[in-house]
Amino acid sequence: MLEREIEQKLKDGGAALVGFCEIDESPIKGQGNLKYAVSIAYKLSDAVLKTIEDRPSIMYFQHYRAVNARLDQLSLDVVKMIEDEGYNAFPIAASQSTNDDKSAYRGVFSHKKAAVLSGIGYIGKSCLLLTKEYGSKVRFATVLTDMQLISQRQKITGGCGSCTVCRDNCPAGAISGIEYAEGMSRDDFFDAAKCSDHMKSYKDIGRGAVCGICIKVCPKNKLR
Ligand code: SF4
Ligand code: SF4
Repeated sequence: MLEREIEQKLKDGGAALVGFCEIDESPIKGQGNLKYAVSIAYKLSDAVLKTIEDRPSIMYFQHYRAVNARLDQLSLDVVKMIEDEGYNAFPIAASQSTNDDKSAYRGVFSHKKAAVLSGIGYIGKSCLLLTKEYGSKVRFATVLTDMQLISQRQKITGGCGSCTVCRDNCPAGAISGIEYAEGMSRDDFFDAAKCSDHMKSYKDIGRGAVCGICIKVCPKNKLR
């Protein structure tokens, strides 16, 4: 079973969590039937997350980029394994900074969608994917493919309960505090434009494109 080999390869490369799923429809136009996905999660460093206080740090910016680069490398390993089996594989970059409609603040495919369908976690009030093992201290990449992949995990249900810590600490006012429920649109509980605009205000930190306060403060993250 290739799922097991893919998972082992990714874990050997440092992935924290790996999942597989079938998507309702092929998400990339003109690319055939890419309706299966490998979801790859890489854990962020607790020590680096601690450097975020009321604003992000340059150490977090650098770490964020390094983790994205590692995720993209892991995706390439998966692409090779799948192509060697004679199927198509399409890597979705860990950080999708642009898409056709920039005002939509969306990448070409949602890593969170693949992670939820794969049973890796659920969406919290912060709009971050919360995992049982690491809370939201994870970043994601996804590989889409036309090779049938069978999910190895049950979908996780969960929620934030009465917690509103991320809403109370978000400097942009982007988090409404409304609990996400299946089928809800992101705009119903999270203001991506406010988050993005705020991140751009940190011009002295890299390109001013990270924040991370909602990760730092989430009680499900239990920083070491
Ligand atoms: S990244 Fe920062 S601005 Fe965006 S939702 Fe989280 S705390 Fe708010
Ligand atoms: S801080 Fe609280 S409300 Fe926000 S994602 Fe974490 S558990 Fe959910």
